[in-house]
This record gives sequence, structure tokens and C-alpha cells, in this order.
Amino acid sequence: MSNPSRSLGRKSISVSLKPRDLMAERADLHNVWKAQVITLMPEAFPGILGESLTGRALKDGLWQLETVPLREFGEGKHRNVDDTPAGGGAGMVLRPDIMGAAIEDARQRIAPGAPLIYLSPRGRRFDQSMARMLSEGPGMTLICGRFEGLDQRVMDHYNVVEVSLGDFVLTGGELAAQALIDATVRLIPRVLGNQASIEEESFSHGLLEHPQYTKPAVWNGRAIPDVLLSGHHANIAKWQRAMAERLTKERRPDLWRAYCANHDRDPDEDQEL
Ligand code: SAH
Repeated sequence: MSNPSRSLGRKSISVSLKPRDLMAERADLHNVWKAQVITLMPEAFPGILGESLTGRALKDGLWQLETVPLREFGEGKHRNVDDTPAGGGAGMVLRPDIMGAAIEDARQRIAPGAPLIYLSPRGRRFDQSMARMLSEGPGMTLICGRFEGLDQRVMDHYNVVEVSLGDFVLTGGELAAQALIDATVRLIPRVLGNQASIEEESFSHGLLEHPQYTKPAVWNGRAIPDVLLSGHHANIAKWQRAMAERLTKERRPDLWRAYCANHDRDPDEDQEL
């Protein structure tokens, strides 16, 4: 089913594909990973996801994106979606009946195994392992909150998973949704041109990535470390691994302890470099 608002106002087909055309009115691609986003701001999509590698992959049908405009499920002349918080207090809360209708509508168009996720500062912290798990499934339905958030009964009724981007408060879930989609989509095979970069980057081995350098060889009196210009691949790999370990130990003691436990190492041992 295509959404009514998407076909309104689109009177001609433009020659050059604009980012929003990448997601509009396309027939559902069967068995292709799908992100659905329930939002009051459908115009914010695909946003940055329409650019660069994720944008190309969207165009090539390696993944698909559907916005579900919450306003269309709103009530009355003004299509109201929110009301004042029970018990008083500041702001407005998204109504469960309105969100419920949007969820039921959206879920008809996605595989039942796709998780239903509410972006929320109270959720489980998003990380690379969650991105990997999501990329291996059929897709996800994301609920973007606004104002003070969403009525708790929606979470309880639909077994919604709450996911947070970090310990800070955004104005709405849309930026968080785009971050979640970006981190997940780039793990879908063939989305990144260079699959090897996924295997080497931060978190893939439980470590932060080693520092990167490029030309010029000397810049502002600072030289690229000799070993990287030596052409000796074993030494380069050893240096990169040692730097990754040192950085992780210094900056992220939590990751370092987990890494050492996995590799049967003493977290307090001296570094080789
Ligand atoms: N009153 C809420 C914050 C609401 S912010 C509270 O104190 O917990 C409005 C919306 O922005 C939320 O409903 C959520 O969808 C989104 N949001 C805010 N911070 C976020 C974060 N750290 N991660 C993911 N989504 C977030």
C-alpha cells in the first residue's frame, strides 16, 4: 500500500532522481531489508541516508526505506496526535490510539520478525553488535518520539524495544533513527564498496581502530610513522594492532576489560609499544 500523502503533490516525474524519490512510491522489494519510520516529520527522510554510499545502495535496491507519517493518523480537523500528560507537568505526550493505528498500518508491510523499536533516551544503548544483529534480520520499524515522548501503554502492548543513542536528550527521534539506520545499512552486504573496511574498523574486534594517515608524508613538521611507509606488511599489522590496543586501554577501559576477558589476557599487562 502506498501512502496517500506521498502521491499528493507529485504531478510530474522529474528526470534526475532527488533523494526523496529514492523512497517514494516504489513497489515493495520482496526480501530486501527494510526500514520503516513512523514520524511526524516524513520530509526529514531520507535526509543524509539519501547521500553517498547509503543513498546509492537505496537507489540500487539493496535496502528500502518507508516513512509512515503519524499526522495522517491524527484525529479531527487538526489531525491531533498528542495530548497533555496524565498527572500534569510540562509538554505533550503522543497518544496511544493514534500511534497504535500507525503501528498496525505499518506492520502489515514488513516481515513479522522485524523488531519494533522506539528511539528513547531510556532505552538500551545502541552499539555495533545491535547494528550487526539488526542488519541480519528482515528490517525494522522505528518509532520517532517528539515532545515529552510516547504513552507507556504502546510500549507495553506491542512489546516495543526501546533503544537509545546515548545519554543525552534530542528534540525528536528522527536524528536517532537516521543514525540507527546508517550504522545498520552499511553492514548489509554490498552496501559498502569495500567490505574489508568493516572487518577492520572500530568495535569489529572489540577494539577502537588504530590511527589513520595519508599523504603528504610530512605535514606541519609531523611525519607519518616510519613503519607505515616501510612496506613490511607483518610489521604494519603488528603496529596497528598494538596502537588499537593502546588506544582502547587508554580511552575505553570498559571495552579493554571485555577484550582481555575474551582473549585470556591480563588487562594490566604492559603494552608492547
Ligand atoms: N521526556 C523524555 C525525552 C523526550 S525527547 C525523557 O525525559 O526521557 C523527544 C523524543 O526524542 C523522544 O521521544 C525520543 O524519540 C527522542 N530522543 C531523545 N533523546 C534520545 C536518545 N538519546 N536516543 C534516542 N532517541 C532520543
